[in-house]
Amino acid sequence: MPLFVEVALPVPMRQTFSYKVPESLTVIPKNGMRVKVPFGRQQLIGLVTGTSDTCDLAPHQIKPLIELLDEEPLLPDSLYKLTAWAARYYFCSLGQMMSQALPVALRKGAEVLAETSTFWRVTEAGREASLDSIKRAPAQRKVLELLQKSELSQEEVVNLDLSKSALKALQDRDWITKEERINKIDLSWREHLELGEEPLTLNPEQAIAVAVLTQQTGYHCTLLEGITGSGKTEVYLALLETVLKQGKQALVLVPEIGLTPQTISRFKSRFKVTVAVIHSGLTDNQRLAAWRQARTGEAAIIIGTRSALFTPMAFPGTIILDEEHDSSFKQQEGVGYHARDLAVMRGHLEKIPVLLGTATPSLESLQNALSGRYKHLELGQRAGNAEKVRQGIIDISNQPLKTGISHALINEMRIHLDAGNQVLLFLNRRGFAPALLCHECGHLHECDRCDAFFTVHQSLAEIRCHHCGNHYAIPKQCHSCGSTMLMGQGVGTEQLAAVLEKEFPKYPVVRIDRDTTSRKGALEGHLNAIHKGEYKILVGTQMLAKGHHFPDVTLVGLLDVDGALFSADFRAPERFGQLYTQVSGRAGRARKPGTVLMQTHQADNAILRELMHKGYGEFARGQLNERKQALLPPAWNMLLLRAEANQAIDADNFLSSVAQLLPQNEECEVIGPMPAPMDKKAGKYRRHLIFQTKSRQQLQQAFEIALPQIEALPLAKRCRWSIDRDPQDLL
Ligand code: ADP
Ligand code: ZN
Ligand code: ZN
Repeated sequence: MPLFVEVALPVPMRQTFSYKVPESLTVIPKNGMRVKVPFGRQQLIGLVTGTSDTCDLAPHQIKPLIELLDEEPLLPDSLYKLTAWAARYYFCSLGQMMSQALPVALRKGAEVLAETSTFWRVTEAGREASLDSIKRAPAQRKVLELLQKSELSQEEVVNLDLSKSALKALQDRDWITKEERINKIDLSWREHLELGEEPLTLNPEQAIAVAVLTQQTGYHCTLLEGITGSGKTEVYLALLETVLKQGKQALVLVPEIGLTPQTISRFKSRFKVTVAVIHSGLTDNQRLAAWRQARTGEAAIIIGTRSALFTPMAFPGTIILDEEHDSSFKQQEGVGYHARDLAVMRGHLEKIPVLLGTATPSLESLQNALSGRYKHLELGQRAGNAEKVRQGIIDISNQPLKTGISHALINEMRIHLDAGNQVLLFLNRRGFAPALLCHECGHLHECDRCDAFFTVHQSLAEIRCHHCGNHYAIPKQCHSCGSTMLMGQGVGTEQLAAVLEKEFPKYPVVRIDRDTTSRKGALEGHLNAIHKGEYKILVGTQMLAKGHHFPDVTLVGLLDVDGALFSADFRAPERFGQLYTQVSGRAGRARKPGTVLMQTHQADNAILRELMHKGYGEFARGQLNERKQALLPPAWNMLLLRAEANQAIDADNFLSSVAQLLPQNEECEVIGPMPAPMDKKAGKYRRHLIFQTKSRQQLQQAFEIALPQIEALPLAKRCRWSIDRDPQDLL
């Protein structure tokens, strides 16, 4: 028995903590087991990361651990290594990274395996007992009557709402009894895989892709670049068939918004196996149950959003990441990580292939594919009989706009609607109008806590700041001059929908954005109604651009192209290119030809022209060259330090001191400190410092050396600061 353990705890400190092993312990603590330990005045649950017979601390400084919660390590060695790697790569606390890799129930101390379930049944005496003898106790009578027919699981007892006191009374009489039974793990799918439907006959491109993918053994990473509708999902399904037939499991990661019932049902209807679905809408217990099914191997397929990446598999077979370019794979809050990059690392550690699929590769993955680090497969044909999309630009310079829509677009809409089709209008702005403008003095009403304008929400009769949540009733008078001539400046989805309802009274309008889909199940409801054709005009934000199939949409209009394209962020053109291509892919997916129209003031813009005429593939390669020349990711490696403080000077001084601690030469660059694009938010001043290096190792080494010194800076205590490696946006 070791005398001491090192424990990673879910606290921000980037270190592990030592505890004494009490003599009473019978199980030998090993790396990856959970322990409960005293920490200050609280008790915390952490993971053992090391054991030893010596300890540097003085005996009185070291406390004994309270409890060992597991009999074997929680995570397989590969996942343990993955979280350790991630903590190091993202410069965060090992304990926090490990803790977030676990379902919440386990973080709180739940048992790893529900080895047993509870059942209720009658005893010999209970079987003989007469129901009439307890007719005065109807609740007991009901229970006995049911159990005389058949036994019930605890779950069924709860569902039937049987009285607890009646159960207890019958148990006291020895008429019924409770039994714990070992749960059997059903792994029959590994012996015999049953299909729920016949696979489609693959087209030649799909067949080649599947042939390549099914031959891969050990670690490989493949980028499957297939235009929207080219049948990528069909390729995943064919690959899964081979993997499952080998008795191995598959982990499928999808973007947050992509995990709809339609997606899940495509996997469920193809294979008659247990599919564990993991997403943020689950209760802690549901999540733990799904995690267990994956860990025991009972679930052949695990499908989930970002955090499902950390789900252990008993028989790891493959990892598939769909829509790999999607920014929801990057966790921004708290402990940051990119699920795509960690999936690739996991593939390495588990020695299994990783497949990244998308119509619009991220420049990161594209670079890896072009350089040969990843295998590159392409699907250039639409799978069904869909025809090519017609594209056009509507120049709106000096054109009268009706709440953001040009006459040309309205006319085009009418043609498509009158032909019985659906129209999708895309506007990346929620609310009624972005800002409240005074028509007399031009004053724009601004949040008092942020460097941002209020958004008008007519239906709520309020103005709301989308950056801090601050909100007020819509003012009747201008805050600056007192005029009552206040109007919305610009157009949001809510106002657009209202105007379209007036313009096209015969055609029902649906609006899809974060406001209309915040209720659970709301998005599914809207999508179903769209599929049934209950709505003809679809107004939405980028939520609508992802992965949904609308066979009757034949016209897609992008209203605010300029706003999307010309933002301060270096990723703006890439994101716009992805958005445009994804949105275009919504048009004409069935046998109807589709049209995509963009409204812009910059009809000659080179980026727009390139996208339209050459497609995303060439556009992206051009962007990649520009990033190389500008020494931006993915050519160079970037780390962003954010600091915010009540006094701007505190954040500035802190980051200036940090800058002094970082190397600056031909291969290491420090930019800033500088104000964040939104330099004030919720009353705090925000500053950025960017550290860029030519190679990954340089960044790792230099920042590992600097980090303890940064933490030791007295100024570090005067602001809130965070480290964002490979930042997805510079906001
Ligand atoms: P993607 O994931 O690339 O957008 P999907 O896999 O969703 O494409 O396929 C688009 C449509 O084409 C779906 O309706 C799908 O059923 C159909 N499809 C895919 N592959 C084939 C095939 N080999 N033969 C016939 N239809 C196919
Ligand atoms: Zn605000
Ligand atoms: Zn005014």
